[in-house]
Amino acid sequence: MNQDSYCDTLFINGIVVTMDDQRRVIADGAVAVRGQRIVAVGSADELRDWNAARRIDCRGSAVIPGLIDCHNHLFQLAGRGLGDGMALWQWLGEYMLPLAANIQAPEALAAVRVAALEAVSCGTTTLLDNHYAPSDVETTLGVARALQEIGLRGIVARGMFGPYTQVAQDNGLDCALFQHNTADEMASMRECLQEWSSDRVSIWPSPINVIYNDQSLVRGCVELAKEFGVRWQTHCSEAAADPKIYESAYGVRPFVWMRDEGLLDADATFAHAIWLNEEEISIVGEHQCGIAHNPMSNQYLASGPMPLRKLRQAGVSMGLGADGAAGHCMDLFQIMKQTVYVQRQALLDPQAGNALEAFELATREGARLANVDAGQLTEGKLADVVVVNLDKPSMAPCFDVVSTLVYAGSGNQVSLTMVDGQIVYEQGRFTQVDRDAFIEDAQQRCSQLVQRLGLQFPLSRAHGARGAAIQDASVA
Ligand SMILES: [Zn+2]
Repeated sequence: MNQDSYCDTLFINGIVVTMDDQRRVIADGAVAVRGQRIVAVGSADELRDWNAARRIDCRGSAVIPGLIDCHNHLFQLAGRGLGDGMALWQWLGEYMLPLAANIQAPEALAAVRVAALEAVSCGTTTLLDNHYAPSDVETTLGVARALQEIGLRGIVARGMFGPYTQVAQDNGLDCALFQHNTADEMASMRECLQEWSSDRVSIWPSPINVIYNDQSLVRGCVELAKEFGVRWQTHCSEAAADPKIYESAYGVRPFVWMRDEGLLDADATFAHAIWLNEEEISIVGEHQCGIAHNPMSNQYLASGPMPLRKLRQAGVSMGLGADGAAGHCMDLFQIMKQTVYVQRQALLDPQAGNALEAFELATREGARLANVDAGQLTEGKLADVVVVNLDKPSMAPCFDVVSTLVYAGSGNQVSLTMVDGQIVYEQGRFTQVDRDAFIEDAQQRCSQLVQRLGLQFPLSRAHGARGAAIQDASVA
């Protein structure tokens, strides 16, 4: 037998969306995987004679690169569906940060596990979890272990609040989370970076939000990231008021300050980055920073549309993120669709976005931001492969598979998720963990948390007529 044409898994007879440099779609294609890597991609005819330990017939399915979620908060699943109808600062001040200040490690980990399962079942293979509650060393490592155990590739960006700043105080954020000085936060962060070692899951520092973090915390995180050779992530300019809040506190816009401090390069990755002026767009572009775009979250909190193409044209690497499951879901197919629609609606231009562009952000561009050697089905890349069932009324007729997947597709159609050459999800079954036990544990622990905090749905009923209407209906 020719060793060169042996593989562990051969996906064959599917529509292969390679996302390679030519964006080739192979109508009747095949992908061969050996160990952790893709060893061949071509037509089914070309690869038909390959010897494979397992041959997966993908007739009626698309074979796509695994999707990459560049910004998430898995623990937020604990409050799923609560906290509806508020804008960012109110949502943080009245709902999410009190929840974050009170959640206990077993509750957070239970939520993390179920959110990660949801992501895997929707075709996510790399996930960046910006974990911040609780953010002690043991829980942070526990989150990394949970991703590893489920079979994901990923990053735990440990979110830190640091000292209680005037901005946080003035804007009603819970002081309970701002309990460590910068030196203590850096010591814990260093411990996480030293303790953890894995090929598949890494740990990055994350000052949680440039706007309300102390400047020393941001500087410290960047220094630590450099020392350990990793990237870092933070929220910045998510709400329209953020740059003004920053400017009135420090006399400078946030991205200008970071540029002047020498903090910006390709290792700097930002969640949201919606409200940048022209100067800041040039700054992040010139320094080739990464931006994780979260259109579903931005719509949920009414944060606004981001200048997507201006940022990409300026030079940033851009990926997509689900940004937690508190009010939305982990399904990057939905997020791809919204990426396109938000731009069209905001600019009143039907050409302001398209399906291929959104698919690029969810795959090869996201890989660039997350710094992983995946995001394409090409020889030599890591074997992160997803099979999507096209044999559905919603997929017929299928003329342009990428358009069909983006505009009509859903994570529910994912039939198989492979990470690092290992099948972690297939036909509704998780191969590494007990799904039912995870869901039961999360339901029980998160219910206790919600009860303890006295959270009710909808938390926002005092804030709008919609909440009141729901309450009336439930009484009737
Ligand atoms: Zn976020």
